[in-house]
Amino acid sequence: MQVKAVKFGGTSLADAGQFRKVYDIVKSDPTRRFVVASAPGKRFGEDTKVTDMLYACYDMAAAGLDFSAFFAGICARFEAIVDGLGLDIDLSPDYEEIISALMHGAGRDYAASRGEYLAAKILAAYLGFDFIDAADVVFFRDDGSFDDVQTYPNFASVLRGHDYAVIPGFYGVMPNGTIKTFSRGGSDITGAIVARAADADIYENWTDVSGFLMADPRLIPSPLPIKTVTYRELRELSYMGAGVLHEDSVFPVRSAGIPINIRNTNEPDNPGTMIVSGTDCVDNEHIITGIAGRKNFSVIRIEKDRMAYHRGFLRRIFEVLDLNGINVDHIPSGIDTISVIVHSDELTGKYDILRESLVSSIKPDYLEIKDGLALIAVVGRGMVGKPGVASRIFDAVAAAHVNVRMMDQGLGELNVIVGVDEADFETALRAIYDAFVKQDSNAL
Ligand code: ASP
Repeated sequence: MQVKAVKFGGTSLADAGQFRKVYDIVKSDPTRRFVVASAPGKRFGEDTKVTDMLYACYDMAAAGLDFSAFFAGICARFEAIVDGLGLDIDLSPDYEEIISALMHGAGRDYAASRGEYLAAKILAAYLGFDFIDAADVVFFRDDGSFDDVQTYPNFASVLRGHDYAVIPGFYGVMPNGTIKTFSRGGSDITGAIVARAADADIYENWTDVSGFLMADPRLIPSPLPIKTVTYRELRELSYMGAGVLHEDSVFPVRSAGIPINIRNTNEPDNPGTMIVSGTDCVDNEHIITGIAGRKNFSVIRIEKDRMAYHRGFLRRIFEVLDLNGINVDHIPSGIDTISVIVHSDELTGKYDILRESLVSSIKPDYLEIKDGLALIAVVGRGMVGKPGVASRIFDAVAAAHVNVRMMDQGLGELNVIVGVDEADFETALRAIYDAFVKQDSNAL
């Protein structure tokens, strides 16, 4: 039988009504055997996530303040879910234990993890599934990194003992027995770990959007959905700020060849977006898969006559950047020029020292550091080996009267990065989207 690992995010478990939707989704497919729960998230715009309430509670406890009234608010959220679902479970021993732990110096991660712990307990009771505590199966090393070597074999053998189970997301255990969480949004990572440990056929990540869109809807009105995206394309897009999924959640499943399906709990019939490893057997409706972009980049432009003959020239540039703690994003180059593109925040307070160190180290003929660049990443496996893509991008941007300040195509041909003035960002992005998506759609 197929095995699906399914993870539900905070908005999918925000209240009893959402729990009912989750129930229907899980029960409609008997292969949805291992379920990962987040802590209840926001029910409405101004609401507070349970995880944030728990952090606040921890801060009060750590400051020696009376947090009982505040903690009662957290219990009330869980009790409303238990009552709303008509469940006959008593969580008061758990509440007592958490209060006592907080009073006796339990850590911040422990406090935060209790949202997932309680949500998973409720969900397990509601679904009639077993409950597996993440503290028994997800291990961290002393340095705080996830211990894959210890986790996978142990977790796999525990899962073999359960037909159906719910596992809380977000946390695991340190070698000394204390609870440690992943970074925020980390239930996505637990979902991927469960999928890998269960050798699942698919990792379904249920959230409140129906997968990825080809562009940011704040910039492009009603962008088309992405049906299939490869892990590599997703990296290119998420790096530019198109995030729905925790970045680290890709690694456990990617290497095991398990696809991720992003689904919407509020729209369960929508197939969402499938994230896959290979580029074969996937529909390829458009030449491009998506467009993402960000403002606030700076260009360090360096010119030096006969650059290629100055051995160690590039190394010295990067040494200077490294010594000043500056991360590099892109390095488009010409015969006697090289531009180093960095996020402008990297340069805060460092402009003068950077200029001076570069001048003394590489003695450039010309050096300029200029802010105000926006980068647009045009990403698509459909571009590989296809002539004319770059010219289509250029034409589209030129027709919108936007000047291209730089263009960089990786050798993999999977993405083209276009740099424009920040003021032209939205116009250029729309022009490129329209050139590919509208024209492609008309042609279909
Ligand atoms: N509850 C945690 C957070 O709010 C983890 C998660 O939801 O994935 O970040």
